[in-house]
Amino acid sequence: MDENCSKMTVFLLMITVKNSEMFFRERWWIGMGRWPWSDRKTVEECKSMEVPWLNRHGYFCGFKSGLIEWKNAFGEVISSISIQVSVDEEHFGRKYVRFMSTFTNGLAGKKTELDYKVELVTTPCNFGGVRYWFICGLVVDDKPCGRRVAKLYLPPGSKYFGCRHCYNLTYRSRKEHDKRLDAAMKNPELLKSLLESDDARDLLLGIKAYEKVLGRR
Ligand SMILES: [Zn+2]
Repeated sequence: MDENCSKMTVFLLMITVKNSEMFFRERWWIGMGRWPWSDRKTVEECKSMEVPWLNRHGYFCGFKSGLIEWKNAFGEVISSISIQVSVDEEHFGRKYVRFMSTFTNGLAGKKTELDYKVELVTTPCNFGGVRYWFICGLVVDDKPCGRRVAKLYLPPGSKYFGCRHCYNLTYRSRKEHDKRLDAAMKNPELLKSLLESDDARDLLLGIKAYEKVLGRR
């Protein structure tokens, strides 16, 4: 693998945002080098926050606060975050979701309070009403993202919710596909069995691997 590829730096400046006015003038920053593909996280590994979920739970109505919990397979709460959602522009200014949580850092157990907002916007629906979107507030390589997205992600070890593009997330299925493709290109027996397979997906994978092997010559 390319040496430069394996170098990744993530640094965070601007930690706490005290109020909405400040938030909309300034943003928090993340600088990233290139991520090696093998280190790319999948969306399945991340916590996420979805517009439809907030909608179903009645958050897009004036001002509402709540606690969101993530549980493991045993039903135990593994983490939680407090949120406030305001779509009441008259009283609270711009529309936003405010995230509030406490992180414990490193071995020293130092606690960091996080309190930041993600802007919300709306677009009209075909049949009346409006559809809500998050505006991703991350900054990658000095460029503010600003993408309009329906889903935000929080990868393991990260502090701020952001969009899939900023965190360079992939889908597990894609990652597994890439792994199998790689394996087929290195193993002639596996490649042969894929090319002889009755399963259309395996056959397509075999053809793709075969083309790639030929392309290398
Ligand atoms: Zn983004």
